[in-house]
Amino acid sequence: MSDDKPVQTRLWRIAPQGRYQLAVHGGAGGRIHELADQERHAFEDGLSRAYAAGETVLADGGTATDAVCAAICVLEDDPLFNAGRGASLAADGSAELDAAIMDGAGHAGAVAASRHARNPVRLARQVMRRSPHVLIAAPDVELINSWGEQTADQRYFVTDSRRRQLAHLHADDADGPRHGTVGAVARDSTGGLAAATSTGGIANQSVGRVGDTPIIGAGTYARNGLAAISCTGHGEAFMLCVVSYDIVARLRYLGVDLADAVSATIETELSGKDSSGGLVAVGADGTVVVAHNSPMMFAAFDQDHRLVTLT
Ligand code: ASP
Repeated sequence: MSDDKPVQTRLWRIAPQGRYQLAVHGGAGGRIHELADQERHAFEDGLSRAYAAGETVLADGGTATDAVCAAICVLEDDPLFNAGRGASLAADGSAELDAAIMDGAGHAGAVAASRHARNPVRLARQVMRRSPHVLIAAPDVELINSWGEQTADQRYFVTDSRRRQLAHLHADDADGPRHGTVGAVARDSTGGLAAATSTGGIANQSVGRVGDTPIIGAGTYARNGLAAISCTGHGEAFMLCVVSYDIVARLRYLGVDLADAVSATIETELSGKDSSGGLVAVGADGTVVVAHNSPMMFAAFDQDHRLVTLT
């Protein structure tokens, strides 16, 4: 699948600016010419709205955790992205969603193969706040209700365009293109870090398959004083290479800077193993790094007080 082939890594390093920092991504994957202009603008619009939602929280003095959750909810509600409503479908036509959130103080929550929570990232946050666990698989309606979160049925999540995509993939016996997984990282005005990621996984994936997104240290990781990271890409490779923790370990044990840690992990753990994807990261000093070795990636970040949406 051409989507899986890494290209030369592209990396943006944004020097610390302002009281808080935020970066949002909308997935890494195939080639830009696969998207019509209109669709590309719709992706950019979704990312801008998500960025604005997260930024409002931070500007009001809210926490990095609340900011990343707010940003992700916008994208889960937007049917264009591969998360929440409009997510990629598993081989049987159902939406099984994964999400995780982690704060830099060492708390994390995640859900895998979630079929009922309207906003999987909010449920992940409840796992973090209200349960003694980190990851809950196939959370049931009773649990979701007991935590006061909204449920939705499969008709809400499954869109016509995802049904058509799945039918094409069945006809070709193929895996789908991967873009549209969503993630966010933030550093709030107290220096607290957080990361969150949400996805429907890979179109036409086996029922019950869980990717890197809800695996702490693989697709999502945060640690105050070091960095917060949200990944997107070939989930199996990100799990096997423990990508987000690998970056943090380089900061922690080698003392390198964030951009060097990100590029070293991508080069050695992903490109070196012929896997592609991307990530957004924020360091303890507020440096933001956006990088991918996939042909394209959607991301939004603040550069010189200007919102840049990258495709
Ligand atoms: N990493 C996600 C997964 O493997 C997919 C993606 O980011 O596009 O489930």
